Amino acid sequence: MSAALAPWLLAPLAQALQTTRSHALLIHGPRGVGQFELALALAAAWLCEGEPEARPSGQACGVCGACRLIAGRTHPDLLVLVPEALQQTLGWSATEEAADGEGGKGRKPSKEIRVEAVRAAVAFAQKTSTRGGTKVSVLYPAERINATSANMLLKTLEEPPGRARFILASAAPQQLLPTVRSRCQALRLPLPRQQAAFDWLEAERVNQPEVLLAAAGGAPLEVLERLALGVTAEAWLRLPREVQAGQSATLAAWPLPLAIDALQKLCHDALAVAVGAAPRYFGALSVPAAGDVAQLTACGAVLRGEMRRAEHPWNAALGVEALVQQLRRAMQPATLATTLPQVARSSTLRRAAGQSPVDTLKP
Ligand SMILES: [Zn+2]
Repeated sequence: MSAALAPWLLAPLAQALQTTRSHALLIHGPRGVGQFELALALAAAWLCEGEPEARPSGQACGVCGACRLIAGRTHPDLLVLVPEALQQTLGWSATEEAADGEGGKGRKPSKEIRVEAVRAAVAFAQKTSTRGGTKVSVLYPAERINATSANMLLKTLEEPPGRARFILASAAPQQLLPTVRSRCQALRLPLPRQQAAFDWLEAERVNQPEVLLAAAGGAPLEVLERLALGVTAEAWLRLPREVQAGQSATLAAWPLPLAIDALQKLCHDALAVAVGAAPRYFGALSVPAAGDVAQLTACGAVLRGEMRRAEHPWNAALGVEALVQQLRRAMQPATLATTLPQVARSSTLRRAAGQSPVDTLKP
């Protein structure tokens, strides 16, 4: 496990090993920089039973009995809680307690860490360590627990049983209850340096990593996640042209938050270019230069609102799927069919008035 750790996580791991004094750690940072990977590496380092000589930087040795059990997902003192919907992607499956919980078979995989799973984690922490060392629970994404679970967890975080330790990993720590946040020692994971991320993606044989790294705001693991969902460099590069032509096929094939995220980024870049700044997510040549600042600003606000609604179904009680479908219908054609032609029209007017740079893309 430790051998595959991305190079930009090595320093944060060393830092965590040296500075973690609390029994609860919150690893947070932008999406896609490796919170979960770091959490697992740290858990492995805490549980490793290898000789100190075999682990010069304090990392897990990777070869001792404990490390082999972790690699086989069967270490009795390690509990990894991830939502069912992420279990396959991340390679960690449900606890028995969670799998047998309410709803039973046949329901959709939950996007939340289920209450039963958190209850199991609390019970896990109370039990004596099987191998005589520490016990570690990893929760990811930690914001995907509901208020009931958070309150249940809170009691355990307040009065930690024995040598139990918790690692909460999150890209949205502001969505955690403040009372949970305040009981954790925080470790912030920054974006890796661009060159390090680029080299790593090249080693992963990613096509046009510079395009996808920009698209993902510099987060390399996010690039891989997006690739699995169809966000190739080719698709990304043709997006501005497609949106300008009112075509939504590429966007409609992506999950809604991802489609809205792409529109937000395109809107951001169009606005940047319109005020004479450099685009951040798309190539300079692919973003039209003559957008209407007021309308792009308004469009950005609409997209932010849609994103909030699209990202929150994990915390909604009922009708999540219906809400998502409704938003998809309401948002996509409206944005593509009305906002952008309006932008085009007003930029034509401004061009006629001689106030705006020439639009570099043919309609
Ligand atoms: Zn080991």
